[in-house]
Amino acid sequence: MKRLSEEFGFQHAGHATPLLADGSDAPHIERSYAAQELMDMRALTIRQPYADAIIWGGKRTENRVRALSAFHLGATVLIHAAKATHASEVSASDLGLDTAPGARGAIIGTAVLDACHQASAEGCCAPWGMLGFWHWTLRDVRSLPRPVEAAGRLGLWVPAEEVVRNVLAQSPEPRPVR
Ligand SMILES: [Zn+2]
Repeated sequence: MKRLSEEFGFQHAGHATPLLADGSDAPHIERSYAAQELMDMRALTIRQPYADAIIWGGKRTENRVRALSAFHLGATVLIHAAKATHASEVSASDLGLDTAPGARGAIIGTAVLDACHQASAEGCCAPWGMLGFWHWTLRDVRSLPRPVEAAGRLGLWVPAEEVVRNVLAQSPEPRPVR
């Protein structure tokens, strides 16, 4: 199987960074290519309807119990909709997402990890930010035309190469933000 860098014609830069799901080294790629961020990407599993709220509803704050490593700032992350729905039983229509696809167990889009801060005592990042959490803020959110099936994991996880290939092949289109 050819490496992604060969298939997509990327140039190799200095140090090697683990990229592939099996832990093998993949070449670190210069960031001059638009698709480079997709080569470095991790995935983030989010339960529905909150995954759809990011892709279709303008949610740009992800509440997490841990701070985002500075290493990941500016990186593209795959937005993965968990198979299980959120325990709070918030519905898609509660969030104004009646027309959102509601895919589960799949990568549904991409976003760039923009910044991270601790929630302020007075509250911030309304209406999505919650007290007591770290707020990971997102930008450049895009939907995937065809969701890519994948099993979710905790934290920022490394997607299988096949998943990355599928995402790259779809050339995600920008979608308007409400
Ligand atoms: Zn905030």
